[in-house]
Amino acid sequence: EKVVKSDIEIAQECTMKPIEEIADQLNLSKEDWEPYGKYKAKISLDVLDQLHTKEDGKVILVTAISPTPAGEGKSTVTVGLGQGLSKIGKNSIIALREPSLGPCMGIKGGAAGGGYSQVVPMEDINLHFTGDLHAITTAHNALAAFLDNHIHQGNTLNIDVRRVSWKRVVDLNDRALRQVVVGLGGPVQGVPRESGFDITVASEIMAILCLANNLNDLKERISKIVVAYDFDKKPVTAKDLGVEGALTLLLKEALKPNLVQTLENTPAIIHGGPFANIAHGCNSVIATKMGAKLADYVVTEAGFGADLGAEKFLNIKARYAGFKPSLVVLVATIRALKMHGGVPKDELKKENLEALESGMDNLLKHIDTVKSFGLPLVVAVNRFITDTDEEVALLQKLCKDHGVEAVDTEVWAKGGEGAEALAHKAVSLIEEEENNFDHLYSLDTSIQTKIETIAKKVYGASGVEFSAKAKKQIVQFEKEGWGQLPICMAKTQYSLSDDPQKLGRPEGFTITVRELRPSIGAGFIVALTGDVMTMPGLPKQPAALKMDVSEDGKAIGLF
Ligand code: ADP
Repeated sequence: EKVVKSDIEIAQECTMKPIEEIADQLNLSKEDWEPYGKYKAKISLDVLDQLHTKEDGKVILVTAISPTPAGEGKSTVTVGLGQGLSKIGKNSIIALREPSLGPCMGIKGGAAGGGYSQVVPMEDINLHFTGDLHAITTAHNALAAFLDNHIHQGNTLNIDVRRVSWKRVVDLNDRALRQVVVGLGGPVQGVPRESGFDITVASEIMAILCLANNLNDLKERISKIVVAYDFDKKPVTAKDLGVEGALTLLLKEALKPNLVQTLENTPAIIHGGPFANIAHGCNSVIATKMGAKLADYVVTEAGFGADLGAEKFLNIKARYAGFKPSLVVLVATIRALKMHGGVPKDELKKENLEALESGMDNLLKHIDTVKSFGLPLVVAVNRFITDTDEEVALLQKLCKDHGVEAVDTEVWAKGGEGAEALAHKAVSLIEEEENNFDHLYSLDTSIQTKIETIAKKVYGASGVEFSAKAKKQIVQFEKEGWGQLPICMAKTQYSLSDDPQKLGRPEGFTITVRELRPSIGAGFIVALTGDVMTMPGLPKQPAALKMDVSEDGKAIGLF
């Protein structure tokens, strides 16, 4: 009998505060920020310097079990917990990723939380926002244009056109662009070569923007991007083309974090959003650091399950940013755990304690992973209206038996109020639990050892098989001096193994590393297991078919 409102209906009913009031809440002065319309702003990077000596707030990382089509709701819980902390009187801020238009128009709809835990203005956030994705797309494509021009103008760098790795990008799902030939049409149109397009969020420049600590760091990382190899098989970089300055210039505004608010007027920073497979899947280091300077608690999230997003947050992002997270919140839903326990998608609404118990293995493995980083953690049960009390009680009991508390949260239906218990628990765990955070591997071990450590400790694999190609690359990469970089695993998000069909907690499997890719600018080596999609396609019925705009300019159908 209850009418469930859509996310966009809820978002459009909320009363936003003008952005200066949100800035005031954070004690930002007029010089510290610039308005982008009435409800968005960019925060100046000078604020980080000004607050240099101020003690950092606590960083709370939200992650989840292995995702299923049933949905987990990490962003929703992240926003809800930020609101919940405000509700219990804490000074909190949220730091999320920027949505990409590709999945938004394709399958996902909006990506700004859900129900009564959303960031607003959700239409703007989901559509062009403050233009960061445009700037990244342009910087990426400029580098491609300079590269092709260099080849056209005589190729003094001796670039082997068969070994150009730098493609072009667009922020859409467009499978027709996956493989293209550029430079057709004769000598004045450039030199023909095979290439392709990736989606913007898969651009190395997106990963770089998200890992850079400041403008100088951004430029230095851009310099190191490997775009191609020459005829001696030596890497050619953006610096060799002499364009690192121009590219950094194109990104100078995009590097500033964006300030918005939640439905309950809690401040939120939304900045950067790299893929969580070939990149590290977290919002920007600058946004998280800014959040920690401006509030006592910053709640942030990492993509996919804890085996991917959290592992990379902890081994890559936290390492480059030099911060220590205070707490991990592991989001689980009864529905998804039942799917891990073998229940098909159309039967998830029925109570099924047996399937829940067997699907719990997936959650328990992720709990062990977080513990192996030495971090305190709490499980957040993201409650759906179809979950029964018996199911929630069973989940809580099984977590307790495993030494972890699971808190019932109703952030989607109730906003911050539904996360008060979770907020209290988070605060007390941060104050009382021991925190022995450490990375899982040290950078000076070999590429092979680093990959094996992640596969065994995080995935529960019995070992790793390297293809002949990967073995050759390891030798080559270590010779280039890239052996000391952290590893970014590109693995299916659906399973702890590299086989998306193996749900729950698979055992006795090996991980196959097919190929490595150097993301030297971002500062990691990507290890590819299985096929990785860097340009998604659209489904038969794209989400865009439901979208429209009213005569007075209001967005319709963005979920
Ligand atoms: P993730 O960050 O894990 O991808 P989101 O937080 O973006 O997930 O949520 C995905 C979708 O699921 C959103 O449309 C959101 O409204 C919906 N959702 C999340 N939690 C709930 C819930 N408890 N009940 C109903 N719908 C939910």
